[in-house]
Amino acid sequence: MKSTCLKHGNSERINLIRAIPIILLLISTVNLSTAQSRHQEATVLAYNVAFSGLGAGIGAVFNKSKSTKWHQAFARGCWQGSIGGLLNYSSKKTLHLISRKQSTFYALPAMILNAASYSIVESAALNRPFMQHWSIDYGLLRIDFSTRNKNDLKLRLLPEAVYASIDAGRHGRFDLETSLLSGNITFKTNLATIPGFDPNLYLVGLSWGRALVYADNITYSNPYYTIAHELVHSYQFREYQIFNTWLYPLSNKVKLPVAKKIFSRYIFFDMPYFWIFYDLEGQKPYPYYYRNFYEFEAERFSTNQHVLVH
Ligand SMILES: [Zn+2]
Repeated sequence: MKSTCLKHGNSERINLIRAIPIILLLISTVNLSTAQSRHQEATVLAYNVAFSGLGAGIGAVFNKSKSTKWHQAFARGCWQGSIGGLLNYSSKKTLHLISRKQSTFYALPAMILNAASYSIVESAALNRPFMQHWSIDYGLLRIDFSTRNKNDLKLRLLPEAVYASIDAGRHGRFDLETSLLSGNITFKTNLATIPGFDPNLYLVGLSWGRALVYADNITYSNPYYTIAHELVHSYQFREYQIFNTWLYPLSNKVKLPVAKKIFSRYIFFDMPYFWIFYDLEGQKPYPYYYRNFYEFEAERFSTNQHVLVH
């Protein structure tokens, strides 16, 4: 018995010694993966803060009064915009709870955080008082209000949301619950793949910026994950609306009172700037899909895990 035990013990010791290089290799892989994951997290955090900070800073210079020095306007817009960017990061970060908890409820806090984020960034770019004017995009509408005056309440139609809803609606049936919780018009389909803009790509979800469609009945992909991923794209779409604030000085020169009234009271012109930048990144076939930064960001936030970028 003793001998067998000793032999067994020696055998274990030898196996352990043999396994040491493998264990070291695995530990180094885990550390590497963690380091890479941390690097990806730092990248998306820095991107969101810098994008909103710079976007608001430049907007604040374009919209400043003649008596304000440009560098003062830029600095003010930049720090306030950066706070909005941090909130934007937090709103995208919240979305992974949809896939982790298997519940679309988490689209609601994410939407509120995202609306607060964009409101702060937009106010910074327009040199408005900090945290006084708010807006939320909900379905086909943009709702504006302020804590200063209840008469500031405005409900304006989002033309891109109308177009997106009609086009996305051709691919699936209306998902009321997800639409209400996310503020994004949502459709679901039984199809295994959704015909994308690129016919060579097989998709389980597709975003139009203001509307989305996802496959809800397939074995190889989780619909909650798909919803979270596509909602990141809708947040990306909205953050690029910051360019509207850059054009305010030009729109103020328009001398058509009827057009001014329509756009200030009834319609918010939500230009799809985002798709220009998305197309510049290009849609790559798998396994290179996440070389597109916006796809990488959507995957990172929806899974909250390291993304393999080949
Ligand atoms: Zn995507």
